[in-house]
Amino acid sequence: MSQRTFSIIKPDAMRKGHTGAILADIEKAGFRIVAIKKLSISKPQAEGFYYVHKERPFFDSLTTFMSSGPIVALVLEKDNAIGDLRKLMGATNPANAEEGTIRKRYAGSIEENAIHGSDAAETAQFEIGFFFAGHELV
Ligand code: GDP
Repeated sequence: MSQRTFSIIKPDAMRKGHTGAILADIEKAGFRIVAIKKLSISKPQAEGFYYVHKERPFFDSLTTFMSSGPIVALVLEKDNAIGDLRKLMGATNPANAEEGTIRKRYAGSIEENAIHGSDAAETAQFEIGFFFAGHELV
């Protein structure tokens, strides 16, 4: 069944010039781009986005990183979009990511790992609404 998920090309991948390549990988994997924008987020906005991780030891570092430069926010659609994007991304730590995954190709570390993808339907709904208004989903 067709499903939507939310993704971010993270600041590390943008700084290294991998934005176009990652978008191409996403499209080649069969995702339709429903919405796309380049923007920068503040540290408080990053804290709001990642609030589920607020007790984790890496929360301060993660939100500093995510507000350190431009990102690309995306809404993506395909059958099984949430699971298929997680597969295409690869493991959180690029050292454990499978060949051919985005994190294996472009990520530098467990934190600076190139891409975000929603982990469940409820999370996708929250994350899409965090970045996009309904009229931007086309
Ligand atoms: P994801 O769903 O694969 O993105 O991983 P998580 O939801 O567990 O973590 C969210 C993000 O926090 C990851 O994508 C990383 O950028 C960062 N992160 C996760 N684990 C660690 C860690 O152990 N150390 C640091 N510094 N960052 C981490």
